[in-house]
This record gives sequence, structure tokens and C-alpha cells, in this order.
Amino acid sequence: MTPTAAVGARRRARGRRTPGRTARGANRPGPPKSKTMHTLRGIAVSPGIAIGPVRVLDPRGLRPPLRAVSAEAVPAEYDRLDRALESARSEAEAAEAEARDRIGPQYADILGAHARMIDDPTLRRDARERIGRDLVSAEHAVSEVLEGHAARLAGMADTHLAARAADVRDIQRRILAQFLGPGTAPAPGDTDGPIVVLAHDLSPSETAGLDPARVLGFATESGGLASHTAIVAAALEIPAVVGLGRALDLARLSRSAIVDGDEGLVVLDPDPPTLDRYRRASVERTARFEGLADLAHLPAETLDGRAVRLWGNIEFPAEVDPCLDRGATGIGLYRTEFLFLNVDRPPTEDEQFAAYEAVVRSAGGRPVTFRTLDLGADKLVSYRNGHPPEPNPALGLRSLRLSLRDPDLFRTQLRAILRASALGDVRVMFPLVSTISEFRQARAILRAVAGELAAEGVAVPAGLPVGVMVEVPAAAVMADQLAKEVDFFSIGTNDLIQYTLAVDRTNETVAGLYSAADPSVLRLIALVVAAAEPRGLDVTVCGAMGGEPLYAPLLLGLGIRCLSMAPHQLPEIKRVIRAIRDDRARALAAEVLGLEGAPEVAERLREALIEAFPEAAAHALPGGPHDSRG
Ligand code: PEP
Ligand code: MG
Repeated sequence: MTPTAAVGARRRARGRRTPGRTARGANRPGPPKSKTMHTLRGIAVSPGIAIGPVRVLDPRGLRPPLRAVSAEAVPAEYDRLDRALESARSEAEAAEAEARDRIGPQYADILGAHARMIDDPTLRRDARERIGRDLVSAEHAVSEVLEGHAARLAGMADTHLAARAADVRDIQRRILAQFLGPGTAPAPGDTDGPIVVLAHDLSPSETAGLDPARVLGFATESGGLASHTAIVAAALEIPAVVGLGRALDLARLSRSAIVDGDEGLVVLDPDPPTLDRYRRASVERTARFEGLADLAHLPAETLDGRAVRLWGNIEFPAEVDPCLDRGATGIGLYRTEFLFLNVDRPPTEDEQFAAYEAVVRSAGGRPVTFRTLDLGADKLVSYRNGHPPEPNPALGLRSLRLSLRDPDLFRTQLRAILRASALGDVRVMFPLVSTISEFRQARAILRAVAGELAAEGVAVPAGLPVGVMVEVPAAAVMADQLAKEVDFFSIGTNDLIQYTLAVDRTNETVAGLYSAADPSVLRLIALVVAAAEPRGLDVTVCGAMGGEPLYAPLLLGLGIRCLSMAPHQLPEIKRVIRAIRDDRARALAAEVLGLEGAPEVAERLREALIEAFPEAAAHALPGGPHDSRG
């Protein structure tokens, strides 16, 4: 299947969903369970409302009870083991092929690795040994062996290795499902009917494997706003809430659930009035989004004629088409590091080129902004095991710092990007720049690599725009100096907020302190615009703040002319832009820059949005992940 066909298939799958992603089974009679409604609050990471029967995924719940077998039954247990391993392996291979079409090679490769792990002769040998020695059933033996591996990995100080425990539990789930029959021990994407998934955590690979046609929504006990899982959920457009805290014990007693990915709520066993309210909200939401589809081809400009560029953020090549379908006129942030995650080795230059080429070609001549590798912190790769764990990774060797420390990794990526740049309108930006000297080092390497390619006879366009992401307060404060050398700025508010307010963006326990409305953040944005304007440099906001309707008038008023966001956010932002005036937005920005704190700013922004645009405000105000303090 071509990437375009894959996107088409995904969209057809979405088209089959009932409006608002509800399942009939939400009301079906089942085993006696708690009938009391419980509402849990978490962090909204992927918008939408899902209503359906609950499926709790908990690796601990998978362990089959000890079942003794007689010595005579041992050969039969060996056969059962062989059959289960064989069918689990072929199932993982089929899932790999499907993921390759749906999401891209990097996640397909994980499933390929799962297939190889299942096929590993040591697993078979160890499980057989237990059956023969302990006289236990095949499922108990294989589960004990795998649980032993998972527990050992999970206990390791090296976070890369600890994260592999999730892979082992993934394959455990798949193998046990073969013994226990369909539906008894399902993998997240391997279920019979539409469901709402509740789990302690879902790895990015598990999330990437979810089938949006079957998994209506999901919620997890752990996780933060900017985790990979959150980003993948938004890319797949599955409503999701993370960071619920303890929820599985209650969820196990519940028959149905609502996941409200706009408000960050999970309602277990909703009572009839709540169910009705959500069903209505869900239908309205679907109708509203269908209405917004018509906006895709209208210009993004204010009532007084100020044009704004709306671009899309992507992690996978297959996301370019959804961005363009929703009216994006370019790609403002391509998070290239997703190609490097959850694989056993870094992709080669040619593998990277293939992905980059696909993105540039799908963009069809529109600008594509490549963000060079942003690895480290929460985006860890297993093949960097040689690097000792850092005490404070968000302030450690991450992002551009890591690329500069590993020139081979960096140069290989730059070669692949520069080769792709000949095929369209490509820009390059460096993430997490803290000083001008880092920018100069990175640009010097880029120029050297361009020179090498030219010497090899590879066409590289001259004058490729090179920019920096402003994600560290230091870069915003020094923007006037940076402006002398960069071609553009792109403000990564996700990190800029984290570093300005000293609040870990992935930690649910401090999520209430994380706010884009804080005047300190707004003043830093204003500094960047002031540094860029005299030189005519573009300033884009590509962090999540850029896709939230509440902030669109403010950002416009601060002088931002380009917003880049996840594809699903494009229509709503265009709608807001077309309903406001630039002169009013400027007055609003000047006013809120003088307010004392985030709650006051958020309140003023709400009023302004309601004043300018009553219907949009009714929908857009709640649930922006950044207005948690407002
Ligand atoms: C940001 O920090 O705002 C950003 C866009 O980059 P990421 O979310 O990938 O860190
Ligand atoms: Mg960032």
C-alpha cells in the first residue's frame, strides 16, 4: 500500500466510526459490576470523546494461574507451546506489515523485533525446561520466563533497558492470547469490538499499534502532556487522557467508560444523564468538525485582512496529507527523531533519505521545516546504552547538544536532509539552542556537509534557510544577537514553558503549574518578535500553544504570523483567525503583557475570545492543555 493509500485507508476506518466514537456495547449487560459513577481527572493529550465498554490492560492481570500437568502430559504441553509461539510470531509479522502501511517503518520495526523475540530459541528452550522440570502448563511456563525477563529489565537503573520491559510484556500478552483464546488476553490493537482502553501505561509502540477503528479512546494512569505516547495518540486522532493516577482498580469494576480528551476526564460507569450529555456533546462535536472541513480552502486571514500562515506539525511521513487536507500551506515542524526511536540502531543515511524524500514529495513544493534530531530527555534510544544515565536528563545531553557531541550521527542526518532538500522547499532548524556559539557550530557542520555533497556531485540548493528553535529562555533573551545570523525563529513553547517555569512537561504531579498563559512566557515570545521584526525574519510558534484557540488572538497580537500545529487543530485555529481583527489582537496582547499571573491572563483571553467569537469560545475554551491554571 502506498503512503497515500494508507492514509486513505486510515481515513475510511475513521469514517466508519459512529459520530463521537461511541460503541453500543457501552450499555450491554455484563458480569455484575459496580454501578456507581466515578469521574477521574487526568491530562488531556488527544482531543475528542470516546464512549464504550472498558477493557483494562494490565500486564499483571495476564499471568495465568499455576496449572500442574502430569509427566505423561508433558509432550502435549510442548506441542501447545510450539503452536502458541508459532501463531504469536505470525500474528506479530502480520501486525508489522500493517503498521508499515499505517504509520511507517520505525514502528513496524518494533513489531518485527517482537516477532524475532518470540522466535528466539532461548525462549522456547527455557519454557520447555520449566514444563519438563516443574510439570506446569505451557502458558504458565512461558509467562514465568517472560515475566522474569520483564521484571529484571524493569529493575535496571538504565532507563533505556528498563523501557524494554514493556516490549517483553507486549510479547507476553500476544503469546498468552494464543493459549487463552481471543478476547481473553488481548493486545491493545487486537480486540473484537470497539472498546475504551484503560492501562497503567502504554508505550509509544503499543500506542502506534492501536487500531483507531476499534480503540475508541484510551486513558493511562501514568504519563505527561508531552510524552511520546501523547504525541502518537494525537497523530492517530484517538481521544486520550494520561496521568490519571490510580485508576485501574476502579476500572476493573466498571463496565463502560467515557474518555473526554478535551477536558482530560474519564467517567467510569456514567449514569444515564451523564451518558446523554456526552452523547449529545459528541454528536455536536462531530457536526462542528464536519462544518469546519469547508474552511480548508479559505484563506487564513483576519477580518481586517492580516494574513497568517497555518502549517502542520508531523512525526511520520503519512501525516503530511492530513495536514494538507486540512488546509496547511506547509510543514512547520517535522520531528525527525521519531525515525530514531524504538529501533535497534540509528537509521542509515539512505533510510533517512527515503523518509525525508516522502515528506518533501508529499508536500508538493510547499515549505517543509526539518527539525534536526531532538533525542535525549524523554526521547531515549536503546542503542545509546553506552551513555550513562543522567541525573537530570532534561537539562543534560539532549537535542542539539547531543548532535554536536556525536558528529557522525549528526552529519549522517544532515546529509540525508540536504539530499532531500533538492526535491522541494526545505528549511532546517536546530532544536534547543541555548547560545549563539551552538548555532554557529551546527551551521558550520551543515555547511561542511553541503560542501562535501557538492564535491560528490550531489545537487544541494544554495541559500537553504537555517533557523533556530527558541525553547530555552536564554535564546529568547539573546534573540537580538541570534537575529543577526539566523534566517528564522520557531518558538517551541512546550519546552520554553518547561524551562521558564521550571516545570517538567512530562510529570503529571506538577502539571497544574505548567501554563502557556504565564506572563513570563509571553514576554519571552514578545522579545523574539521584537528581535525578528526589524530584520524581516519569520517567527513561527510550533509548540502546542500555537494550536490552541485560546491563544490564537494573543499570538497574533504579539506579532506572530505563522502558527504550526497538529493536523486536527488546523480548522479550529483558522476559524478563530477569520473571526478576529488584527488591531484588536494587538491591543489585547499589550494589555495581557502587563498582567500579573497566568490566571488573570487566561481569564482575559477567555473574555476576548467570547467577545469576538461566541460559538468558537464555547467549544475552544475548556481543555487546552496549557490553561490548566486559568
Ligand atoms: C516544543 O518544545 O514546543 C516543540 C515543538 O518541540 P517538542 O514538543 O518536540 O519538544
Ligand atoms: Mg521542544
